[in-house]
This record gives sequence, structure tokens and C-alpha cells, in this order.
Amino acid sequence: MSIATMTDSPIWQPFTQMKTADPPLKVVRAQGACLELSDGRQIIDAISSWWVTLHGHSHPVLAKALYGQAQTLEHVIFAGFTHEPAEQLAQLLCAHTPGGLQRVFFSDNGSTAVEVALKMAYQYWQRRDQPQRSRFIGFAGGYHGDTLGAMTVGQSSPWWQPFQPLLPPLTILPYPATYPEDPEVDTKEAQAIAQLETTLKTDPDAYAALFIEPLVQGAGGMRMCRPQFLRAVSEVAKAYGVLVVYDEVMTGFGRTGALFACEKAGTQPDLLCLSKGLSGGCLPIAVTLTTEEIYQAFYADDPARAFFHSHSYTGNPLACAVSVASFQLLLAHPEAYQGLEARHWQCQQRYLADVSHLKQFRTCGTIAAMELETEASYFSDLVPQLRRRFIELGVLLRPLGNTLYILPPYCISDAELATVYRAIRQVAIEVAEGYFA
Ligand SMILES: *Cc1c(COP(=O)(O)O)cnc(C)c1O
Repeated sequence: MSIATMTDSPIWQPFTQMKTADPPLKVVRAQGACLELSDGRQIIDAISSWWVTLHGHSHPVLAKALYGQAQTLEHVIFAGFTHEPAEQLAQLLCAHTPGGLQRVFFSDNGSTAVEVALKMAYQYWQRRDQPQRSRFIGFAGGYHGDTLGAMTVGQSSPWWQPFQPLLPPLTILPYPATYPEDPEVDTKEAQAIAQLETTLKTDPDAYAALFIEPLVQGAGGMRMCRPQFLRAVSEVAKAYGVLVVYDEVMTGFGRTGALFACEKAGTQPDLLCLSKGLSGGCLPIAVTLTTEEIYQAFYADDPARAFFHSHSYTGNPLACAVSVASFQLLLAHPEAYQGLEARHWQCQQRYLADVSHLKQFRTCGTIAAMELETEASYFSDLVPQLRRRFIELGVLLRPLGNTLYILPPYCISDAELATVYRAIRQVAIEVAEGYFA
């Protein structure tokens, strides 16, 4: 199979061991929550194509916005120029994120949104004549993207081990991941906060910024924390002057059941990174929002004090126009993302409640996750087998280690969601029966 892939296609796939992976499945079209393969099979996209699709695939409103914009202005240099789609998008973002965030910097993917936040935070302290504030704080299990800066703040990830020597040191705090009726949640949170306080007390002027994925760590295993933890972390960091960066690349745009996780938790960062769902899953685009105070640290007569960062496609009009259309859809239909949490619980009750080796079922808005208890020793071989089995059952799911999660497009129907849960039920039972051993 792998030889066929090698000869058929020159493509080197992302996050894929090309030697052992199955040949990639060819998708010919997608509608709503469904992908159609070249052999005619229909697959339910239960992970929103890696967390980007919001309203469903090939959405007519987004397609129309894209087509209209493509006929008018497809792209233009962004330094020294602007255009209506970017202006509209920036206005929308400022109007619907916490009040203090009034400046919008464009880039083109989640990793670059994080790079921008990192460089802004670092340079901010130089502008404020405190260059010693050059270190960063992150959380165990945190993930912020694949470029070097993003890897720096997501350094606890096992994927980045080979690159460790290239990364500046990071202070890593424990993350109090929790689930309903977790008996240890208070202790875990208190320990994490205490460690943050000790870190900052020991070296009060060393840290530029703290990075956190608010409410849900995505790639780390859909690990959820309580809103009060997010508030406490942010308050302690701010008390020591450390800038707080919320990486809402995954959690933004309704994922957590509110428009943004920071809104849900009632807290506000100094910098906010958004991408993935920004364009509704249609085109690559990202923004880093920040406060007037940070903006003002760069605002000067001296050209050398400007923020030096740009990408060729910064502020791309097509991506901006689609993002505006997607945002308007979200605002018009909040029930689509607000209703999913209750639907997850109904399905859990119906299909999973009696599957004893599925533990720690948890939800945050549109996201549901659980742990599959199995013998860890063979689990790494099991993951690709599970992926393949889910596809056979007509569902795209990508377990993260022992974590099974569902992160569907908001348009998923009750019947489609039931199919996803029935597939999980069946696969979990097959695992217990040794079907994959
Ligand atoms: C996916 C992700 C990123 C990286 O985004 P890319 O567009 O893949 O570069 C950063 N942060 C979080 C929280 C993410 O989930």
C-alpha cells in the first residue's frame, strides 16, 4: 500500500509517517458535515477537518462571498493599503471580543498568529525599557502550532523533542485538566496556581508573557479546565505585569458554546490569537488582537519602533470576505453552536453510558471527549487501526492517544451525530473484545 502511495503521488503528507500510513483518501466533494470520496463513499467529518469547518462544507453563503470578492479584488499588498473586507472583519472582531482588544494584526494561520503574539509581547517589553522580560510561561500539554516560536510555547509536546535544542527555555506549569465529578480538581488547580505564584515571586521581572489555550487544550488531548482556573491564572499573571495571551485558534468562533472562550469564562487577555474557524473553514487567515496599550508601545515617530512582521498574503481580501460572511452566519444562528453540548450529552446517555471502559466523558460547548481505557503498551499501534475502523464505519475521527473526541461542524444533523456515537460505541466494544490485538 505504501509503495502505491509513493509511486502514485509526489505529495509528502503532514503529520504522517509515509512508510506505514494508508494511502490518503481522495475527496471529490463535501457538503454540510459529509465528505464524498472518489469511490462514492460518504464520510461524516466529525472533526471539522482538523477543527476549521464551522457551518459545514461548501456552504453557499461562503461560496457566494468568495465568488463575489474574487471578481472584485482578489489580493493586494497590505502594507500601505487596505480594503473593505479587512476593515469590516476588523470591526466585527473588535465588536465581539472583550472590550479592551481594539487593535487587529492580520496573518495567515494559527501558528503565525502565535508568532505575532510572541514577537509583540517580547518587543513590547523592550519598548517599555524592560528588556529583561524575555521569558515565556506555558502549560503542560499546551499546543500552539508548528513553527519555531509556536513550538517554543508548546514545548511540552512530545512531537517537538527532536527540535528541543533549537527552542529557548520555557517555564511549564501543570494544567489541571478535569471532567465532571473529578474529585481532585480543586487540588490540581490550587497546585498550578501556587506554582505560577512561586515562579513569578522568584523572578518577578523575567517573564514577558504567559500562553494558554483557554478552557480546552486541543492537540494535547481535548483537556478541559474550569473557567475559574482561567480567571485565576490570568489575574495572577497580570498582578505581576506578565502579558496574558489566549490562543483561541481552536476555541474561537463558537467552539466552546460561546462566541469565544474568554467570553464564556468572563476574562480578558492582553493578546488574543484567532484562526481555524475565522474563515468558517474556507481559507487560511489569522489575526492577533491586542490592547491599545501594547499598540501604543510601538506607536512613535521613529520608524525603527514599528512592528516588523508580515506575510505575502496578509489581509488577503478573499479570506477576509469569507470571514465576514462566516462571522455574520455565526451571529445570525447562535443556536447552532449553543445547542450542541446538550445534544452531545443526549448521545452519550443513549450510546455510551453502559460502555464501562469509556471514561471521563466531558464536553465544552460543541466539543465532546472521553478516554478509552486500554493497555497502553499497544496503544500507539492501535491509533491508526482505530482511524481506519472509523472510516469503515463512515466517520472521520482521529483519536489523540487514548482520547476519543468529537468536534463536529455546527450543521451536523441528529442522524449524523448518532452515527458518530454509534461508531464510537462499536469501536470501543471491539477494542474491549480484543478485535484489534
Ligand atoms: C491548530 C492550532 C494552532 C496552529 O494553527 P495552524 O493554522 O495549524 O498553524 C495553534 N494553536 C492552537 C490552539 C491550535 O489548535
